[in-house]
Parts: sequence; C-alpha cells; structure tokens
Amino acid sequence: MTQVERQAWDVVVVGAGGAGLRAAIEAREQGMRTAVICKSLFGKAHTVMAEGGIAASMGNVNEGDNWKVHFRDTMRGGKFLNHWRMAELHAREAPDRVWELETWGALFDRTPDGRISQRNFGGHEYPRLAHVGDRTGLELIRTLQQKIVSLQQEDEREHGAYDARLKVFQECTVTRVLKEGDRVAGTFCYERESGRFFVLEAPAVVLATGGIGKSFKVTSNSWEYTGDGHALALLAGAPLVNMEFVQFHPTGMVWPPSVKGILVTESVRGDGGVLRNSEGKRFMFDYVPDVFKEKYAQSEDEGDRWYEDPDSNRRPPELLPRDEVARAINAEVKAGRGSPHGGVFLDVSTRMPAEVIRRRLPSMHHQFKELADVDITAEAMEVGPTCHYVMGGVDVDPDTAAATGVPGLFAAGEVAGGMHGSNRLGGNSLSDLLVFGRRAGMYAAEYAAALAAGERPVVDPRETGAAEAEALRPFSAEDSGLPHTGRPAENPYTLHQELQQAMNDLVGIIRRQPEMEQALEKLADLRVRARRAGVEGHRQYNPGWHLSLDLRNMLLVSECVARAALEREESRGGHTRDDHPEMDRRWRRVNLLCRLATTDGRPELPEDPALAHIRLERREMPAIRDDLLELFEREELAKYLTDEELSS
Ligand code: FAD
Repeated sequence: MTQVERQAWDVVVVGAGGAGLRAAIEAREQGMRTAVICKSLFGKAHTVMAEGGIAASMGNVNEGDNWKVHFRDTMRGGKFLNHWRMAELHAREAPDRVWELETWGALFDRTPDGRISQRNFGGHEYPRLAHVGDRTGLELIRTLQQKIVSLQQEDEREHGAYDARLKVFQECTVTRVLKEGDRVAGTFCYERESGRFFVLEAPAVVLATGGIGKSFKVTSNSWEYTGDGHALALLAGAPLVNMEFVQFHPTGMVWPPSVKGILVTESVRGDGGVLRNSEGKRFMFDYVPDVFKEKYAQSEDEGDRWYEDPDSNRRPPELLPRDEVARAINAEVKAGRGSPHGGVFLDVSTRMPAEVIRRRLPSMHHQFKELADVDITAEAMEVGPTCHYVMGGVDVDPDTAAATGVPGLFAAGEVAGGMHGSNRLGGNSLSDLLVFGRRAGMYAAEYAAALAAGERPVVDPRETGAAEAEALRPFSAEDSGLPHTGRPAENPYTLHQELQQAMNDLVGIIRRQPEMEQALEKLADLRVRARRAGVEGHRQYNPGWHLSLDLRNMLLVSECVARAALEREESRGGHTRDDHPEMDRRWRRVNLLCRLATTDGRPELPEDPALAHIRLERREMPAIRDDLLELFEREELAKYLTDEELSS
C-alpha cells in the first residue's frame, strides 16, 4: 500500500450543496476547524438546480400563514409518516433561515410593498415559497458561498491563511467513513484530477451528499446523485429509514429523448399552468382523493377564481401534492389519452401574457426553446413523471441530526430521512437543508468540541489500507476473489444502464410484488458483476473508474428501495402498490429501517459490500405530541391514525 496523506480537522462536511454549506458555516462559526469536500466543482451542487423556491411561513403574501399551517401542510403531504418533531422544527425555523440568507446578501423577488415575495406551490395552503425567478437554488448557493468566502477572509486577517479554519476540497470524493471502534474517525477520499488518495481525520463527519436519482433511468437528478451518503452511512453501520418512498415529480420533459426527465418546475402550475390530456380535458378534477376533497376546487371555474381570490375559493387540483399528480398523469397516459411523446400537456400560454411568462419563468422559457424548440409563451409543453427526490435517508435524531448508532456521524439535507414522510412538498427541501444543515453543523461542532485532545479517535491504518484496496479493485477487476474469478471484466456503463432500467421498470412509480422480487434478483446479480467492474487506463480523471466506485453505492441503495417497497403492503405518498392500492392506517405506525448485514443475515458489518445483504427492521413511529395533534380536525386524523391511537 502507498503512503496516504492525512490531514486533521475537527469537522468534515461531505457535500457542498445547501445542506453541506450551511452545516460548514455553522461548525466554523462555533469555532471548529472545518473541511468541506465535494465531488463536483465548488458551486455546482445539485441545489443550484432548484427552481421554485424555499418554503417558509413568513406570511408576506397572505398573513394567515404561520408555522402551524406549514407544519400541517407538511404532515398532510407526507401522509403523516413524517417524523413529527422534524416537521415541527422545520416549520418553526424556516422563516429565520430565509431572513438570515437575506442578511447574508440573498436578493429575493419582492412584493409590491417591498417584502420578500412568496409563490404558491402544490400542497401549501398559502403562497409560501420565497424565490428568485425560477433560479432560487442558484441564489441560495451563491449566498452561502459568499458567506464562506467572508469567513475565510476573516481567517486570513486573524490567522494569516484563508483556509486556516474552513477549507474546501473540490472535485474530491469520499469512498468510506473511517471509524475507530464504534466512533467516527475520518473519511477516505480520492481526488478526481490526479486520482490521489488522502484521509481527512476528524471526530465528526456530516453527510450532506444529496439523493439517489441516478439509479433510475428517467430522472431530474444530475450525475452526482448516486446515493453515496446513503451508502457511506450503511457501510459505517447506520440505518436508513423510509427508503421505499421515492418521489416521481409529475412534470419532467418527455421529448426529445436526450433531455427526457429534465425538470419542469412546479412553479408553472403554481403560476396558473393547467394540465390537459389529448382530448383537451383538464383531467386532474377526476383525481382528487377523498383525503383532499374538501380542500380542492370541484370545478374549473372555482379553480380559476382561486388565483384571484384564494380566501373565497379552493385551489385547483393541479396543485395537489406531487405523488397525486404524478399518478394521475401516469393513469391518463396508460389509458391512451397521452400526448404524442407519452406525456400530457402543460399549458401556461393561455393563462399569462408572454412577457409575464418570460419574467416569472425565464429558465423554463429558455429550457424549452433551446432543448425542444417549443415556445411556452405560445404553446403547451409535453410533460411526464420523472424520478426526482428520495424521502428516505439516514435515520437521524430530529433535534441534533446525529445518525442512529454511530457516534460522530451526522446527516442533513436530502441524504437524511424522516422529515418528509412518504412525500415531500415542493419548496420543503431548500428549507429543510437550511434548517437541518445548521443543526447538523451545530451539533457536530458540539460533539467534536466536547472531546478532549486525548479522546479523539485515531484512524487505523488497516482501515485505510482496506479502503485503498477497495478503491483500486476496478484496475484489476478479473481478480475479484469471488467464485466468478476468471470471467472477463464487466463494463461499468453497461451495469449502470441495466440497473437504471431495472429500477425504472420494476421499482418505479407503480409497483407490484412479482416485479419487485424480479428486481431483487437482478440487483443480486448486478452486485456480483459490479465486483468485476473493470476499467482501463490510469487514475487521472478516469470517469469509468469513478462510475465503478459509484456502482457500489447505487446498488446498495437500490436494494434498500426494493426491499422496503416489497415489505410495505399499502400505497402511500411516493410508494404506490398496484396490488395494495389503499393507504392502510396500521402501516402508518411502521418505519422500515434498512441495515447492512452478512448474506446469512448476521447483523455484523461485512467487510466486502459485495457480500452484504440489506436487512429490514420494523420500528414503531413515535406518538405525535398532543398540542400538534390538536392542529387537526379529529375527522381528518381518523383518515391517518388508528382507532387505538385516536383514543389514547
Ligand atoms: P446537493 O445540493 O445535491 O449537494 C450534494 C453535494 O454532495 C454535492 O456537492 C456533491 O458533489 C456532494 N457529494 C455527493 N457524493 C459525494 C461523495 N461521495 N464525496 C464527496 N462529495 C459528494 N427543492 C426545493 O425545496 N425547491 C425547489 O424549487 C427545488 N427545485 C428543484 C429542481 C430540480 C431540477 C431538482 C433536481 C431538485 C429540486 N429541488 C427543489 C430539490 C432540491 O434541490 C434538493 O433536494 C436539494 O438541493 C438537495 O440539497 P443537498 O444539500 O442535500 O444536496
């Protein structure tokens, strides 16, 4: 083994999206020497792509809004499977996080009287999304980066070096969280440009790596979303929760094929866009489920009036939570009422003047013009569901963001589970990553600070050696150590394609038992073959090598999704079972945890992920605090809670 460079830090944050940057700022402000590491360029995290806005009940556009209404909407959207404490903290703290961003320099769109403007979004009772046109994520990241630069300038003045207490390692990937005994001791990393390995030693590691969309064929997610943080947590011994819940955003582009899956922001519907099938019918009126009947318009006239007078009318069903709209589109296409390229029509051109569309939805206008030669100010868009967001993630303590069972490990943002239950409302991710990014940074700093110098865990060179050998295996793929030794190496791109196809076809938007069983067989086969994923060439900028390493993560995470989806015999939020179409109140009390185990089911961590198995565990949901339950009508609660829960 080669000598691997080591650097010592107090807190390492893996990921430089909104959650990672907010965590890093907090940890540094608490006085901790903090390293941020990200696999893409600094500033090019997924958060940049966020379009619609940040949900926070500031009440700027409708004074009726407050944290309790936001909490209620979030729980309804998640079909009561959210961890109630996370939903409470999120709703209470989101407005402060948005105002804080403004003090750090964010320039939000304004109301006519100069306040931060807020727009409508699916599932939110009031206009709630603070936004910057349809480029909100870009402004969020720009602001957080600017804050980081100002902290680095402070360090230069005080310590003579910009990176004395806050350093960014860009285009560097973490492949393992290292431990001493049960505790976190650091991370094993490689640099994309040189292929060089290095270790960041730290007693506290915050995972902020985002989602898993690249395991699916049609997705709005970018190349980074390979479930790395989810897998890193599993491999470190922490469980994942709610992995069966994957959000298919109802409106992705469907044409041309090269751009299939790219997101069409929900703001289009929030600003008045309507969905029609090939017969010209506004079909969403046929798909309002019973639990939402009282809250949504029953006729087109009422829905249209709501845009002018939301207090006297109910909102149009185009603004139902995403899972409902995605299923409705899926059903229309299946019934033969789809658009020419297998989607439905989304039209904003008949609702707003062209100059307003160009001002409010500049990226959408540009995206369709450039990519599909469609002018959305004059014609309808063709849209269909696309894999967008994973509700499941690292099981964390709601207050501290500490991962279950691994001291020193924290998680925030899309990689963390629990907050959104079975379905996330639009806009609730950007607020989630600010609220819990800050909390993760704060508690990681507190944890690191509490350890006296001699108590800090030390990285074991044997762990580093094993991580290095694992990372180098694709260069000698034929020597896999498995019974298949001697077979030719596998092409990582072929394996990735097969994985995406299987997840799309067998564990996608509508799920059935035999298909998920088939998916699990396919995943088992792919996992063995991925062990022989081979690459040629050297370690400098070798994308095939990087993909070979990412495959381990995508396969582990995909198995979690498939196993949990097979186990949950009901339909709820981002998990629809054709063979169990109803929501079942008894299942609301159940959280499914995924853990790594040996193939014969023993709970210890296997050294080799190819020999690992995902073990499911059922955990009862914690009871919701009484004062929060009182925010709902009993009649509504009866749709979600069991009689036993209601009477206790
Ligand atoms: P990210 O922003 O994805 O950051 C992840 C970071 O982790 C990156 O820096 C990446 O390089 C790094 N990373 C990953 N793996 C590794 C590794 N192994 N080693 C080192 N670094 C690693 N949500 C809203 O609330 N409102 C919206 O309007 C909205 N619009 C969206 C539009 C689009 C097109 C998409 C795709 C999503 C949208 N979302 C929106 C969802 C939201 O953008 C994401 O959920 C959110 O940005 C995730 O932030 P994050 O900080 O958790 O992760």
